Formats: sequence, C-alpha cells, structure tokens
Amino acid sequence: MRLLQTIVDNNFKETVKSWADQVQNMNQSALFHIYVPYNLSDGWEQARNVCSILEEVFENPNYIGCSSTGEIFEGKISAKKLVVSVIISEDTDTKISVVPYYSMRDSVEAEKVVSYFRSIPNIRGIEILSAAEYQRMEDVGGMIDTLPEDINVFGGVAVGDNKNKAFVFLNSNEPSYDGTVFAIYSGENLQVSTTRVFGWKSIGYPLKVTRSDGPIVYELDNRPCYDVYKHYLHLNKDDNFFYNALEFPLEVEVDEEVGVGGYIRHAKAVNKDGSILMSSNIPEGSNVRFTYGDPIRMLEHTERAGVQINEFGADVLLLFNCFGRMLFWKDNCNDEIQELTKYAPATGYSALGEIMRQNSTTLLNNLSIVAVSMREGDIKNTRIIPEAKDSKSTNLPITARLAIFINTITEELMVKNNQLNDMLYKASHDYLTKLLNRGAIETMIYDACDNPEVGQKDWYLLMFDIDDFKKINDKYGHSEGDKVLIDMAKYLVDNVKGRNDINGGRWGGEEFMIFGFGFTDEKMKEIAENIRQKAKSPEIMNRPITLSIGLTKHRAGESPKDVIDRVDALLYQAKQSGKDQVCSDF
Ligand code: GH3
Ligand code: MG
Ligand code: MG
Repeated sequence: MRLLQTIVDNNFKETVKSWADQVQNMNQSALFHIYVPYNLSDGWEQARNVCSILEEVFENPNYIGCSSTGEIFEGKISAKKLVVSVIISEDTDTKISVVPYYSMRDSVEAEKVVSYFRSIPNIRGIEILSAAEYQRMEDVGGMIDTLPEDINVFGGVAVGDNKNKAFVFLNSNEPSYDGTVFAIYSGENLQVSTTRVFGWKSIGYPLKVTRSDGPIVYELDNRPCYDVYKHYLHLNKDDNFFYNALEFPLEVEVDEEVGVGGYIRHAKAVNKDGSILMSSNIPEGSNVRFTYGDPIRMLEHTERAGVQINEFGADVLLLFNCFGRMLFWKDNCNDEIQELTKYAPATGYSALGEIMRQNSTTLLNNLSIVAVSMREGDIKNTRIIPEAKDSKSTNLPITARLAIFINTITEELMVKNNQLNDMLYKASHDYLTKLLNRGAIETMIYDACDNPEVGQKDWYLLMFDIDDFKKINDKYGHSEGDKVLIDMAKYLVDNVKGRNDINGGRWGGEEFMIFGFGFTDEKMKEIAENIRQKAKSPEIMNRPITLSIGLTKHRAGESPKDVIDRVDALLYQAKQSGKDQVCSDF
C-alpha cells in the first residue's frame, strides 16, 4: 500500500495528473480522502471542485471526505487548506469501496448497509466519517457491532460549529449534514490494526452521573454539575472555562465486562442552570472520574502507540486526532502527531470524536487519537528502531508531580474508605444472614421515630421466634440450623428489605424483628399472618418451621423501648399459648 497526498492549491490538477500512472485501474483499488477545513466560507464549493477534478482525471474514482480541522499533511498538522490524499493498494486482492448512509433513521437502509458489509469477503476494516449527532452515531456503532468481531472499525466525526455545519460526502454525491459515509477495506492479504492513544491520568474519586441527557450533564453525585467543577477545580464560568476544563476531562467508566477501559469527555460550556455541555454524550448512571492531562505521560502513551505502529509495519497510517486534543497541545500539537507519523506515511484530520471498535464494541471517544495501521502482505520495510529514551520521569514538571501526589492520596483514601465501609457494614449486619443486627435495628427504630414523617403515621413492631429450633439443631446438626436461618432471612430480604415502609433484621439467635409504618392495623396483621404461613411452606423453606409472633402498635407518647418490651411480651405470650400463632394487642 502507498499513500500520496497534496494540499489543494492552483497546481492541484497538475499534481493529481502526475499521480495518474500510479493510480491505475482505479476501480476499488484506491481511495481518496478529502479533508475540508470547516471554517472556510466556501468549503463545500472547493470540495466540489476537487471532486470534479478527480472525476475528470480518473475513471470512477472512489473518494470520501468531511469538514475537518487540523488536517495532516506530510506527517504534521499543518494545512488549514483542503488536503487530498490517496491510498493505493498494491495487492490485486485488496478492494476499497465506499457506501453512503445518509438516511439514518431508516432501519431498512441500515439493514441493507449491514448486509452489504456481510457480503464482502475478507473485510478487514470499516472507516466511518460522520456528521450525525451523537445518538445516531451510537446507532451506527450498534448496527456495526453485529458484524464479526475481527472487523476493525474506526473513524471520526466531521467538524463544524454554530456557523459552519459539519458535513460528509462521497463519490459524486451532495454533502450530507447529518449522515455517515463508510469506506470498506477488504482483501486476503490486507492487515489492519487500530490503536487508541489516551494518556489521561485519573485523579479524584469516582462520581456518579445522577442526571444527564445526551451530552448535557445536569448532576454529578446529585449535585449540579458545575458545582462539582467549581468545588474541585475552582473553574469559573468565564471565557477560559473551555480551556481550563480541557486540562481536566472526565473519564467515563465502561462496564468491566466490555473490557475497553473507559473513554474521555471534556466540558465545553456551562449552561445557565448549572448543567454542563460535554464534548459528547455521557450515559446517566455511569461513573466518571476527573483526569489530568500531564503532557509527559501523554507523550509516553503516544510513543508506545508509535512502537506498535512500527512493529506492525504499517504501509500507511490513518489518523483521527481530536480537535480538543489539538487545542490542549496548542503550539506543541505536532509533538505527538510526529511520534506516530514518523513510522509511516499518514493521512487524517482532527475530529470532534474519534471512533474505534474494541472487543466488539464501537465507542465514540474524545481527546484521543485513533491510529489505524494498514499493510498488505508481510512486513516489507526495514523499520526504524526507536532509540531507547532516557527516562524523563526524573524531571517532571511540578504540576505533573502534584497530579501524581493527588492521585496517590486519592487511591489510598479510596482503599481506606472501602475498609471503613466494610467495617460499618460488619458492625451493623449479622454475619450469618447478612440482615441488620440488633444494634442496627434499634438505631433504625429510634431514627425512624425521630423522623417527623414516621411520627405522623402508625408504626408497628413485629417480633418472631422460631419454634423448637433447638430440635432442628439437635436432630440435623448446627449447620442445618444455620441454613434454616439463612432461608428465613432470604425470605425477609425478598419481601421486606429495600422498602421504606418496612424493614427489619435478626434480633438474636432465632429471633427476628420487623419495623413497619404507615400500614393499617389489618394490613399489618395480614403481613404477620403471611410470614407465619410462609415459614411453614416447603416452597419457601427447605425445612419448614413454625413461628411464634408478637405484634404491637406504637401508642402516643411511648418510647421505642416501651414498644420493644411489649412486643417481646406478646411473643412470649404466643409461645405460652401453644406456639405457631400471632399474638397482637390491637
Ligand atoms: P422455643 O420454641 O421455645 O423457641 O424453643 P427453641 O428450641 O427454639 O428455643 P431455645 O431458646 O431453647 O433455643 C434456641 C436455639 O437456637 C439455641 C441455640 O443453639 C440456637 N441458635 C441460636 N443461634 C443459632 C445460630 O446462629 N445457628 C444455629 N444453628 N442455632 C442457633
Ligand atoms: Mg425458638
Ligand atoms: Mg429464642
């Protein structure tokens, strides 16, 4: 595979004519990429002109393109002009085709596209250029993820802003402002490999996204999103917000099972209501952590990706850099681009989102670089072996060292916090049944009585004791007795726990206590009767048992202890009256 490229200038036609003998038999053996700086006033007109020149010089050329920024030319982000590149395959089996997907709400269309992908033999890679909003971008990912696992998926979101709408286009079509275009790379001897460059270092505790809608995050840990930014980072709602927040993007955790290790989102603007517009969607309910962009660490990641590209022996490289990352690096944005492009000729641009499939899951990333290496056949070129670098870590800037310091402390505190939570759990729960223990039930009853909401309603205590439990132990052994307690607890958990009107636990030995409020007398008696019946049911209890149950109701002016004493007495009464019954005093 080879790559030719040029900036679009007055000589453009001459330049591409000079390519003509290298781009023989155009049909599906070459693909042009056309990157159009998004903030040109006549971007699409210029692109259309490029397309017609390509149509004129080549027979049926394949091309895709999009509005872009940070176009890569000769290994660097440089152009600010249209850049045209062509990937030329040298293996006759390699095929590159393009597919539009402009009518994205149409599921029939989607099915057609996917079955087309399925029909292509030896499909190695699918490139996506998209101007679609994030949600439909996700739909595209979802539809592609039904394809076999070994197909690489990569791409970028077209660039635009309020004034200049993002667009994508391909072979002799009008541009689409909300569609997607695909390039499909296939071939027996074609090898494709993708790498994602990150380098962000997480700092601080995980926060839960308690309310979000698409790219707008309303609440983190139930606090207005901006308050959290203000609290941890002292970021003001001023013109610098975007750039300041860029240094501390959020890492969004992905289910460990998916095995892709999270993705990054950065804050773009604060809304009046304190919500924050992020670079792309963050699902509600996900966990996020602030990260810090330490340039040295980031560069190390990039270097590692470079080594991979080198080892792979890429003939050509497709790069999807991030617009935000480019802004983060400012004048130094080429430091890391050149780390990658020194190993292979590269084409690409800086996107509003970088797409990559990992472990069968296509993710929309931000602040990353997705690097796609392609090669035909065996590794050909002798590769540059990167020189062993002196470790830079002895000379970290103070900010980087502080970030490490904060991160280390946070990690340590998180371990301590987990230990503390563990201890609190153990102190309030019964080891055998995992139910609340007596102390915790008492606290719960006292707390609830202090709660004005409970105070206004009737509340009840239900206490029960397993009848002749000793016999079970004596007859079947202690561990069988334990199982009965566990079964009983499971029934209570399934039917009682997690409701805010009824809760309870293990009072001791084979005695249990339940606190209920807001019920009618009849309902509470029904609950008691139900527990008594269920304990006898072989469907619920492996070893059916009978229960003696005391049930009472709080009376005005009484302390919780008075009620506890009374329910205990009622339980005793139930035992005295022959067991297997409920004794209540209301
Ligand atoms: P009654 O009908 O009067 O309640 O008779 P009982 O045998 O249930 O009552 P008693 O208080 O005489 O005995 C309770 C037994 O419960 C004694 C004790 O060994 C047993 N026990 C207490 N905690 C556990 C436990 O965690 N596991 C097991 N297997 N047995 C326990
Ligand atoms: Mg008993
Ligand atoms: Mg007992």
